Amino acid sequence: MVLVEIDSKAHPNGVNGVKTPFKSAAFHRDLGHEFQKLTRSDGNFVTLEDGRRIFDASGGPSVGAIGWGNRRVIQAVTKQMMDTAYCASLYYTTQVHEDLCQHLVDSTNGEMARAYVVNSGSEATEAAVKLARQYFLELNPPQPQRTRFINRRQSYHGTTLGALSVSGHSYRRANFEPLLLKNVSSVSPCFEFRGRGASESPSEYVERLAKELDDEFQEQGPENVCAFIAEPVVGAALGCVPSVRGYFQAMQAVCHKYGALLILDEVMCGMGRTGTLHAWQQEGVVPDIQTIGKALGGGYQPVAGVLASRRVVNVIQRGSSAFVHGHTYQGHPAGCAAALEVQRIIREENLLQNVRSQGALLEKLLKELLGGHPNVGNIRGRGLFWGIEFVADKETLRAFPSDEHVSLQIAELGLGEKYQIGVYPGAGSVNGLEGDHIILSPAFNVTSDEIQWIASNVERLVNDFFAGRI
Ligand code: PLP
Repeated sequence: MVLVEIDSKAHPNGVNGVKTPFKSAAFHRDLGHEFQKLTRSDGNFVTLEDGRRIFDASGGPSVGAIGWGNRRVIQAVTKQMMDTAYCASLYYTTQVHEDLCQHLVDSTNGEMARAYVVNSGSEATEAAVKLARQYFLELNPPQPQRTRFINRRQSYHGTTLGALSVSGHSYRRANFEPLLLKNVSSVSPCFEFRGRGASESPSEYVERLAKELDDEFQEQGPENVCAFIAEPVVGAALGCVPSVRGYFQAMQAVCHKYGALLILDEVMCGMGRTGTLHAWQQEGVVPDIQTIGKALGGGYQPVAGVLASRRVVNVIQRGSSAFVHGHTYQGHPAGCAAALEVQRIIREENLLQNVRSQGALLEKLLKELLGGHPNVGNIRGRGLFWGIEFVADKETLRAFPSDEHVSLQIAELGLGEKYQIGVYPGAGSVNGLEGDHIILSPAFNVTSDEIQWIASNVERLVNDFFAGRI
């Protein structure tokens, strides 16, 4: 099937601003962009068809956890495919599925009681939202009026309609707004850089945000709220933004006060990325439902999941005993085998310790090398999950206009001959302010030498990019 007429002689960025699709039958994200083909991925590198070897300093979109081409993972998946390639979840399970779920439950010190394995972060959010709803239907006595969700502005929890409905990402929602669930409202994110007042202490800021959430419960009718959903460390939507100390405890206290559930989305920040296996382990809270993805399978297979707490599982178990949800490919043995092996490697090689120590080095170097740059507004993150936010004016923190796509341009420059580094670009909008950022999230087994190289190469990249704009 020919999807689009191609004029292969035309400039890929178009004439007079009109983009011309490049030659491909794939419905790429951007039909006007000339996508490079990857021919190989090994260790921390990906190779492009023109021979460039790119150091993957972000693990794609923070997916890579142990680098690429790991023989143990490849052999585990291959063996699994030879033994049992498919499992119809209505009738059967597999040992690898059981082992992965047990591994995940054990990793929470028994706080979580069951794991539900799906194929993508968006599916995990869908399942989490439906599980929260079903929990209230099966509670004794049931609370069927709890249909409302509260999220945070400029958040991202997935691309499918349910997951997008509980996301506060204005750009990604815009086209589909009329199709999205109407029972979702938003509060401010915890975003110290742009959100905390100059004369406000961190604890006053937390108090203000907790009051905002409390007010939102009152607005919606506290008895109607099913769950509050948030990322412990905000990934793509804001660029590696951890919350202020005590924030999640204050938020959970509001949820508890009104009997609503706390759903934590750890698709991007979880499974070790921030230095503990679960990001909530640094927040002094335990979620009722948690989603995981990306670093779970480290990019080797499409695999994600939901962890459900005892409170939630007990209610379903005593109720209908059946979660009314399912996918053809849920608990797929190849995905489970990849995830289990990646997680075993993380544990056996003590990689969480490396995430913490190399993360501390990355923070130090980035702040030393780039903290004073006139266009670097903020460097924030946790573990091996660091965001650099760019500003047009360091005094006022004015951001660049979104149509300049500053972060995208920096990321594209980074792929060039001179730097050969892959960083993950993003842009957010909070209180009407745009904010360009790049994310650095290398593999958990990155070395000190590689961290030094990443930091100095990113410094060069940022210096050259902004010098070129003058
Ligand atoms: N939740 C968060 C926090 C994410 O960052 C993402 C993807 O980037 C998703 C959910 C959706 O995951 P997926 O793209 O695997 O569907």
